[in-house]
Amino acid sequence: GLRRRWLFADQLGPHFLDHPDQPVLLVESRAAFRRRRYHRQKAHLVLSALRHRAAELGDQAVVVRADTYGEALAQVDEPLDVCAPTSRGALRLVESRPGLEVLPHRGFVTARDDFERWAGAQRGGLRLEHFYRTARRVHGVLMDGDAPAGGRWNFDHENREPPPRTPRLDVPGPWLPQEDDIDAEVRADLDHWEADGDVTFVGRDGPRRFAVTRAEAVAALDRFVEHRLPTFGRYEDAMLAADPWMSHSMLSAPMNLGLIDPREAIDRAEHAYRTGHAPIASVEGYVRQLLGWRDYVWHVYWHTGPDYRESNALDARTPLPTWFTDLDADAVEARCLRETLAQVRDTGWVHHIPRLMVLGNWALQRGYDPAALTDWFHESFVDGYAWVMAANVIGMSQHADGGFMATKPYASGGAYIKRMSDYCGGCRYRPDVRVGDNACPFTAGYWWFLHRNRDTLSPNHRMAQPLAGLTRLRDRDALVDQEHRRGQEPP
Ligand code: SF4
Repeated sequence: GLRRRWLFADQLGPHFLDHPDQPVLLVESRAAFRRRRYHRQKAHLVLSALRHRAAELGDQAVVVRADTYGEALAQVDEPLDVCAPTSRGALRLVESRPGLEVLPHRGFVTARDDFERWAGAQRGGLRLEHFYRTARRVHGVLMDGDAPAGGRWNFDHENREPPPRTPRLDVPGPWLPQEDDIDAEVRADLDHWEADGDVTFVGRDGPRRFAVTRAEAVAALDRFVEHRLPTFGRYEDAMLAADPWMSHSMLSAPMNLGLIDPREAIDRAEHAYRTGHAPIASVEGYVRQLLGWRDYVWHVYWHTGPDYRESNALDARTPLPTWFTDLDADAVEARCLRETLAQVRDTGWVHHIPRLMVLGNWALQRGYDPAALTDWFHESFVDGYAWVMAANVIGMSQHADGGFMATKPYASGGAYIKRMSDYCGGCRYRPDVRVGDNACPFTAGYWWFLHRNRDTLSPNHRMAQPLAGLTRLRDRDALVDQEHRRGQEPP
């Protein structure tokens, strides 16, 4: 027969078992919640997902509640196997247990070996675009013979529209769950742990907004493909203050819990294109985020090793201020940052552009410590894990790897936020002003960033034009003085 399979809390879908009847071990470790200060709603999701899976499996699962994984395993007296877990720490733990068989990773489209073979053949960096095209070919995704479906590999140009001039997108809302008794029990337990002082959380509690079971995740996927995918691409980079979800899938959390296999979501999206239900630009944009970006950051986590997280090419040493880490949106006047922090505080989620162009951009401009920022994203977002945030934060957002992933830093001023959102209209600052009382802190921060990093960035020819702009700035001294005085106060 089959060995009992230990399922980690991010391996909860059917594809982590070899047979639907395979015996299962589920471990609920309190220490896992104590190690970091997670968003309250993230702790809720993980615990709720684990307990829902336990309820679903009934007698098929042995469920152990213990402080540590080690203590839990000591209570299990039969041979076990496990799919390789998603963090270095957990992998070390399972590999050091005698008698515990460790199987290859699951839950991604591309295999670790295939990535390493591809990476070994690259010269001059591991570019996402090339990885993505290779993966499309190898896995036959959105291909018409040897050619990309729709005649092009990349529809980014179509997928960068500013938002419509309405407070919300005119699309049906995302699928939302109904909480049940298990959620009530989870909520009571988390309240209890917090009251005991055993565990601390960041962010507010609130109704559960993400799928935690296979059935819920499939319902959420259905709704996305049916109603929201057609407009996903067009507005994927746009931000609306009153509509944080827009056409986004809201599937990152359930997918990172292992409830949906990414290939399944990709195939559903491709089917929507093939049947004329969704345009190629939307479908390509969505597939790019999964087969391209999600698999790519997964492999970068393992490929680069533990030191990658400590990269600090721009020598950014500012500790994260507590108003930022505590999600104290009320302390902030800059509307884009205020609304974004409030959404993280209230839901544990914002889409990729507020993450990159508001939160990440702010941290980059202010020189926040990249490793601390990586931890903060990991802890504060419902879909955050170590493997998710290393490449996203160190590489993409903070340029801390010196250009291994992105050819130039994603620093930008208020003009970008003005074009891509409706934040600036209701803000006390002016996006086109850089010095003075109504100077936009993002616009000033952009020049402040260039000024501080001008020597490090000058060899990068993609930075030549912005740096030339900096030397021509007539009010540069006043701006530098202003930003020195601002210090780490909330903007
Ligand atoms: Fe953000 Fe500046 Fe626009 Fe205000 S003016 S919302 S601070 S970009």
